[in-house]
Amino acid sequence: MLQLFNTMSRSKETFTPLNGKEVRLYSCGPTVYNNAHIGNLSTYVVVDLFKRYLSYRGYSLLHVMNLTDVDDKTIRASRNEGVPLAELTQRYTAGFMKDLESLNIGHADNYTAATEHIDDMISLIETLVEKGFAYESEGSVYYKIAMFPEYGKLAGLDLEGMLDGARVDNDEYAKESARDFALWKAWTEEDGDVFWESSWGRGRPGWHVECSAMAMKYLGETFDVHTGAVDLIFPHHQNEIAQSEAATGKPYVKYWLHREFLNIGGSKMAKSTGNMSTLSEIGRTPADIKAFRYLVVATHYRTGLNFTEEVLEAAKSTMRRLTNLLDRLETVDSSGGAAQVSDSIVRTRQLFIEHMDDDLNTARAVADMFELVQETEGWLSQGALTTESATALYDFFQELNQVLGIFYTLPEEEGEVSLSEDLADLIQRREQARKNRDWSEADQLRDELLAEGIAIKDTAKGTEWERV
Ligand code: AMP
Ligand code: ZN
Repeated sequence: MLQLFNTMSRSKETFTPLNGKEVRLYSCGPTVYNNAHIGNLSTYVVVDLFKRYLSYRGYSLLHVMNLTDVDDKTIRASRNEGVPLAELTQRYTAGFMKDLESLNIGHADNYTAATEHIDDMISLIETLVEKGFAYESEGSVYYKIAMFPEYGKLAGLDLEGMLDGARVDNDEYAKESARDFALWKAWTEEDGDVFWESSWGRGRPGWHVECSAMAMKYLGETFDVHTGAVDLIFPHHQNEIAQSEAATGKPYVKYWLHREFLNIGGSKMAKSTGNMSTLSEIGRTPADIKAFRYLVVATHYRTGLNFTEEVLEAAKSTMRRLTNLLDRLETVDSSGGAAQVSDSIVRTRQLFIEHMDDDLNTARAVADMFELVQETEGWLSQGALTTESATALYDFFQELNQVLGIFYTLPEEEGEVSLSEDLADLIQRREQARKNRDWSEADQLRDELLAEGIAIKDTAKGTEWERV
């Protein structure tokens, strides 16, 4: 049985969706005022991994992700850059979609843009006002946290001593200043032409109410899983609970899944402090990008990931080892071989599931895979595999890849197919030359490859190549 760490109970719980094998999942999506950084993206890799594992275990999924295309930050950026809000947010939404594709992250069923759901937000706020959970003040509407006794539970906050009636207008604030927060913000000059009409006058929704309205619209008043990184626990997710449960009188979410931070130089990667790298900054080649996915996948999501050039390089060489193994398995052509592979496959599958079931412990699950990688390398070097057993192993590694998603082709690589064939031919001719001990021919071919950006390395396991 799958166990998940639920932030609400601060413990691992057996995962039992509300409706049999159907899982309804909401992920807080990006605020599209800037390029996503690799910390943001790592959180979406984790969501992807979770979705892949659920599918592998026979669950079906309905996944909604929002795009925050109107809030304090997007409006500020549009003003600073002097471009209309929609132009700015469309630009960064397109960049985000490209990043998702580069990282082999499967699509959500629905990407909901906040600006397309303003009516839903207004009617949720109206319900909260009618029920006495919200009040108007000078054209803005605030949520009265004193009305919601459970306020603070998700974040582990003690309401005692909180200022009754004190308000906060910003979307983001610290735990210490938990206050009545804005559901609707009256128009100010800084908002320029960004406003909608409502019974409280011109204004725009607060960030927190956006997610409540869109999640419940598409997933129902109560749904299974809600994700984000740990920075969203307070105030964002706490406020979502307060808004949704006050409006419906029903529990909002069954399992809260939060990813620990990706850090750089010892502190949290963040857009707001500029302490950040984008995927294109760290990913000069497809191999770098895939290594980043591998790095995130192979680290447990509740362990912080300290990103450095060195760990990326190490992940790159691990990926080379793995792809090399798959290539070698594909070329085994033998009817004689003594290795008994099926027991190893069955054992590895069992351990992999056991560890993934334990709150998605990918660090252990990947280690299980490596036991088999090592065993397979041994069989290959002893010539102990038949074509059939090599195929069984190859298929099993692809089965694990349904969950890990680490072997894939980037869109950039696809255009290179014909070139790759030429290059593969050159590599093969060079290997033949080496076999024939024709060193000058081999050296000449190596230089030709280098001119095409391919570096060759001869190792005990055979010839390896990489793009330079
Ligand atoms: P944002 O675009 O700022 O709204 O954030 C998008 C997603 O990235 C949210 O789920 C955040 O919780 C998450 N996030 C922000 N910073 C980090 C970080 N340093 N490491 C991992 N996830 C992060
Ligand atoms: Zn959200």
